[in-house]
Amino acid sequence: MAERPYIVGNWKMNGTRAMLSEARAIDRAAQRYMKVEVAVAPPYTLIHAVHKEAEQIGVGAQDCHPGAEGAHTGDINSSMVADAGAKFVILGHSERRQGHGESNELINAKIESAIESGLRIILCCGEPLDTRDAGKAEEYVLAQIKAALTVVEDPAERLTIAYEPIWAIGTGRTATGEDIAAMHGAIRRLLDETYGEEESAKVRILYGGSVKPDNAREILATPDVGGALVGGASLSAESFLGIVVGASEAEDA
Ligand code: PEP
Repeated sequence: MAERPYIVGNWKMNGTRAMLSEARAIDRAAQRYMKVEVAVAPPYTLIHAVHKEAEQIGVGAQDCHPGAEGAHTGDINSSMVADAGAKFVILGHSERRQGHGESNELINAKIESAIESGLRIILCCGEPLDTRDAGKAEEYVLAQIKAALTVVEDPAERLTIAYEPIWAIGTGRTATGEDIAAMHGAIRRLLDETYGEEESAKVRILYGGSVKPDNAREILATPDVGGALVGGASLSAESFLGIVVGASEAEDA
């Protein structure tokens, strides 16, 4: 792995201030695993509080509105999450693409505004099950990424990609090692072709989809897997740290 493995917890719509003790526990333990970069993306309401607790871990947002401030009731833009302490934003998650009808065009507008606000991007991509069954997973995922790369000029500074097959998110199913290696290899080739190998090597490609302490080490040892985006298992410090330990062991192996 070119860069330190990157383990990112996506808390989704979970967490009240009671969760701050988990964030503190994650942060303190992460200080013992410096070979691993650890981060969490809490809901908007906790970004600033987690940022204040964090000495070691990175803090990010799960989404942002692409516009400047103004009349958008209920929305939060990239400069607001940056002001709250976020250093990155997750964009294009399948729960936003599917649940909120987000198009590649809208995601690109969000990427541009996030870059403008100085944030790093975790760009999510992933295919639904019927697309995989039809043998079109690679084509589908590469099209999602290609659309986004048109607005990312300095990927080494700004970009992380998270490959998350939709059928593996929150289901307990993970893709096989072969499937993961094949898709991550295809994404790497696309990055190589777009930016050149030297720049591409600095972009980590995370895997996401039911990563748990008991499968983390194997997944993280797969070629071209530069870390994990973790949903359910990031909600307790104990299980999230089990994944951080798995990443550290995979790095040592
Ligand atoms: C996610 O939604 O980003 C995710 C990977 O969720 P889970 O780990 O719960 O499958």
